Amino acid sequence: STNIVWLRNDLRIADNEALSAATSVGATAVAIYIHETTKGVRPPGAAARWWLNRSLESLGAALAERGIALVVRAGDASLVLPAVVAEFDARRVFWNRRYAPGERDADTAIMAGLKYDGIAVQSFAGNLLVEPWDIATGEGKPYSVFTPFWKRLREMPIAAPRRRPAADKPIASKRIDTDYKAPAWSHKLAAHWNIGETAAHDRLVAFLDEQLTDYAEGRDFPASASTSRLSPHLRFGEISARQIWHAAQAVAHADHSRQAAVDKFLSELAWRDFNYHQLYHRDDIATQPMQPKYAGVVWRKAQADLAAWQRGQAGIPIVDAGMRELWETGFMQNRVRMLTASLLAKNLLVDWRKGEQWFWDCLVDADMANNPGNWQWVAGSGMDASPYFRIFNPVTQGERFDVAGDYVRQWVPELAQLPDAWIHNPAEAPADVLRKAGVVLGETYPKPIVDLKSSRARALEAVKGL
Ligand code: FAD
Repeated sequence: STNIVWLRNDLRIADNEALSAATSVGATAVAIYIHETTKGVRPPGAAARWWLNRSLESLGAALAERGIALVVRAGDASLVLPAVVAEFDARRVFWNRRYAPGERDADTAIMAGLKYDGIAVQSFAGNLLVEPWDIATGEGKPYSVFTPFWKRLREMPIAAPRRRPAADKPIASKRIDTDYKAPAWSHKLAAHWNIGETAAHDRLVAFLDEQLTDYAEGRDFPASASTSRLSPHLRFGEISARQIWHAAQAVAHADHSRQAAVDKFLSELAWRDFNYHQLYHRDDIATQPMQPKYAGVVWRKAQADLAAWQRGQAGIPIVDAGMRELWETGFMQNRVRMLTASLLAKNLLVDWRKGEQWFWDCLVDADMANNPGNWQWVAGSGMDASPYFRIFNPVTQGERFDVAGDYVRQWVPELAQLPDAWIHNPAEAPADVLRKAGVVLGETYPKPIVDLKSSRARALEAVKGL
């Protein structure tokens, strides 16, 4: 008989419990991926959809080599999955769990429907370090502060990664995600990424060998490329958090002097679990402030400001550099994500959900928990968020974290000739400095769309009475 494994955010062969279970019972396994229109399931944005296509093609070929067909369908999973089960005359269905309230509701209903039809269904952990319900405060409540969450998490046993399931005879490999046509802009993104399970593991190994040592200091500097860039691979489960955890711990085990660097890296990885913990325990975090009092903020309707921010034309160099990096590569370094988000939600006082949606569409790593979780962190409405009075000054932040202006020069080439002293603040540069650098504000590069000082005061005012 046939077993079905329904793949979702776990596009990998190793450490995939559902896939292992589907292949281990002496039956033929068929894998299915559904481009879902299921109620409660958020469809990927454009950049993530492009990544997904590549990831599916890569996984389809790897599965075929092991004798497993990958079938790709589209529609409401509550209809598509039972249809596929009938088509293959399958008796068992396996999947790895997902955590958004809408996703859980959908999965519960689908499971009940299949069981009613006499189909056995089994679900597994596999996309987080620990299941959201397996970690709780002393009073048995969900965590709302990161540090105690991390203290607890690091003491918990993290399941060791499962091996690859045994391989069967190869079958013919063919293109599978055929209804997708890569848009013209995706060629730009393609130049920056290798996609798929093998690429994810190569990236992890390279990071641990070459970059980890500088991680703690370098991760804040956008030009330094010291972070792992594993986020899109994690988003689609080409690699699991458990695999990363154990590989990093092995580095510290072999060389104790690297323990601090490993701890710093794993604590960032734990933020991902923390955001999933919030996603699991709260209402829709992409649309509702996690702290309800923030529902009272009156946002500005500022379409032109939003558009300037989106296009990297805000007239604030490090912010524009970040937004252009995002547009060109589908990625943005973490500190610059914070600065761009802070300018929008605080200085411009534009609803953070507009920014979240733009990131959702443009990021290859756009993630159900991490994107809204971090936007709410910046906006102040998240759990353990940045305090409301902390409003980044993007000029001084630029001077501190992009000291020589390398990042700005890379992404905002029209400012490249400015001396380091003015690269982050052309609006206040003396006229002769601008002239020499070929910069005409308002012509070759925009004047700032917002005054940082008065907009800071306006943002503080907006949250004062909450
Ligand atoms: P590394 O520093 O190498 O970290 C390793 C892994 O740890 C990351 O891949 C990620 O899974 C996790 N991690 C690191 N920092 C964070 C963090 N602050 N919160 C949660 N997990 C973290 N991350 C996403 O994965 N998807 C998103 O959609 C997303 N949107 C964001 C939006 C905003 C406004 C901000 C401020 C941050 C956002 N982040 C998001 C978090 C963070 O910026 C990225 O995870 C990180 O930059 C990815 O690069 P990396 O893989 O090189 O990170």
